[in-house]
Amino acid sequence: MSTFVGIDLGTTNSVVAFRNAYGRPEVVANREGQHVTPSVVYFGVDPPAVGQEAKEWARLGNEEIASFFKPHMGSPLYRLRFHNRDYNATDLSALVLKRLKEDAEAKLGDTVDRAVITVPAYFGDAQRKATIEAGEAAGLRVLRIINEPTAAALAYGLQKTGVNETVLIYDLGGGTFDVTVARIAPDEIAVLSTAGDHDLGGKNWDDRIASYLAEKFAADTGVDPLDDPLALNEVLVRSEQAKWALSERNATKITLQLGDERRGYELTRTEFESMTFPLMDRTRRLTEEALDEAKLSWKDLGGVLLVGGSTRMPMVRTYVTQMAGAPPRSGVNVDEVVALGAAIQAAMEEGAETRDATPSFRLAGEKRVHDVMSHSLGVVAVNGDGTAYLNDVVIRRNLPIPAANTKSYLHMTHGGANAKLEVYLTQGESSVPLDCSVLGKYVFSGIQPTNPEVTVDLKMSYDANGVVQVEANQRDTGQTLAMTVEPVPDDLSWLGRAPVSQVEPSGPEPSRVYLLMDNSASMTGFPLVEAQNAAREFLNRCDFTRMEVGLISFSTQIVLQAEATDNVRKVQAALFRLEPDGSTNLTDALELARERLSAHDRTRYVVILTDGYPDAPESAVEQAEAARKEGIEIVAIGMGDADRDYLRRIASTESGSIFAHAGELVQTFGHIARVITEGGRGLRTLS
Ligand code: AMP
Repeated sequence: MSTFVGIDLGTTNSVVAFRNAYGRPEVVANREGQHVTPSVVYFGVDPPAVGQEAKEWARLGNEEIASFFKPHMGSPLYRLRFHNRDYNATDLSALVLKRLKEDAEAKLGDTVDRAVITVPAYFGDAQRKATIEAGEAAGLRVLRIINEPTAAALAYGLQKTGVNETVLIYDLGGGTFDVTVARIAPDEIAVLSTAGDHDLGGKNWDDRIASYLAEKFAADTGVDPLDDPLALNEVLVRSEQAKWALSERNATKITLQLGDERRGYELTRTEFESMTFPLMDRTRRLTEEALDEAKLSWKDLGGVLLVGGSTRMPMVRTYVTQMAGAPPRSGVNVDEVVALGAAIQAAMEEGAETRDATPSFRLAGEKRVHDVMSHSLGVVAVNGDGTAYLNDVVIRRNLPIPAANTKSYLHMTHGGANAKLEVYLTQGESSVPLDCSVLGKYVFSGIQPTNPEVTVDLKMSYDANGVVQVEANQRDTGQTLAMTVEPVPDDLSWLGRAPVSQVEPSGPEPSRVYLLMDNSASMTGFPLVEAQNAAREFLNRCDFTRMEVGLISFSTQIVLQAEATDNVRKVQAALFRLEPDGSTNLTDALELARERLSAHDRTRYVVILTDGYPDAPESAVEQAEAARKEGIEIVAIGMGDADRDYLRRIASTESGSIFAHAGELVQTFGHIARVITEGGRGLRTLS
């Protein structure tokens, strides 16, 4: 005999559930008797230790540890080396899954060889495929990949028989945030929409405390923990512990012992909540996006389900209560609900496969599930007049999966000289290809030169796991074209240029950037929160192997908040020090930036963010001119009351002056970082 399970393969912890003798999903305890198994591997012993034991080794300061690898699933860049062997995130996840399988087998007294594994709704194609591969490498047949919030809705829905309601699942874990709107009906669960951010989770809350502590410690002792990886690790561990403590208490004490220096600090819950408000606010925007996509408002919801370890923070409950106008649903175990849902789905998959043999297999309260994908699927195509590449969406996001669509494209055959067609598949919403993730390069060959220009029908689909399939047909011959998958080139910056230019890119140059942030009184409140989020996005997208970024704030006073550095944490920490006050002295800020950028060894940029008119507009223009003459590129981003014409006079180029409407700032900043990182002086491609 053999059996199946549902697995929540989490960033920090994993959970396994099975269908018990009463037909109900139930969590399987691991060999330590615990319901959750840390997703951690320790390579200092042979075979490697997994789970709680590995976490203990990590706590003792051992370094041969792999943890927090799930966000890197499917990434060719992520590799850890232990004992002369490279491990990618799939290999590491396979070790965790193998351990979960063994523990479940010991507990259930049966071979476990099939599983439904959950993934964040935000996972793209490569990450889903990597999850299936990890399952197979662990000796499991992966019956299905389902989205974590959908699994949560399933587990919740199973308790609710005979109801008809729409719920919002707010899933804040260790590394990802997912929000999903689902309708629960007596015989069906339909996911209406989903949104999320794979770089927003408990870890960001830890990082905020860590930046705060590091700054205090540096001020008190002259030793900056951010300069030393071991010290930083210690600060991060203490920060997470402080965060947990603040879920129980109103204040906590934190002792840092780094080298010979020992200091104690107190952090109150109120302080913690105010320093992490921008993070909470990011969850609000994504939540509203999911509601908008589902064309619903808060009043249409029957309730909110909280899922994921980070929803234990009291601020989450308070914030959700404020947003929703009612407290979230209770009675859902935030750690287990996803695995329970996966077990239900596994039972349904098995029921579907063996229904003829065992017609009584259905679960009481079982419902059909209609899931959606959170990314649109598209291809890179040349626009109508041949002047630019654009991302052409083929399957819109938030459509029920499986989903398929066919679109037609023209292909020049050049009399047979051009028998190959290169298709770049994208996931993302923007019409700008470089703002989307490029999933793969598919090369179709064997195009017949029946005409100078032939029509190719491209069929794309999402299967039930959210995995992508592509097929191309030449319309006039009816032939399916042979397909090979090639690696996506590292340098895709040509996608940002005009298609005619086939000039080889010169490669990114080392650069130094100063962010000039308006810190005047008018930035108080939401403008500052949005500016901080945008700057954070900017930093996330910068390539710190080639870039140095510094921060200058300007109001009545000019403050060099962070000297240009390749240490991203230093700039992040500086960002959260801003406290708006006074008026807008852009002139002196530009002068300071010029002075800091006086060395000529790198490409130099000044990126200004302002929400108004400076105190002495003409002298600021003069300063900007002087900087430009010295070869400094200036990008001027305006928000709020900023004046577009004025921004144009400050910036180096027309396209380097940008006015961001409310809600657009994060995207705009991400865009600029990308252009600086990938294109050297390529700011002109922004238009
Ligand atoms: P998950 O990926 O759902 O297991 O969530 C893990 C995240 O939840 C980590 O960032 C933990 O630090 C966080 N977490 C777990 N328990 C608590 C708690 N009591 N208070 C605050 N955060 C917590």
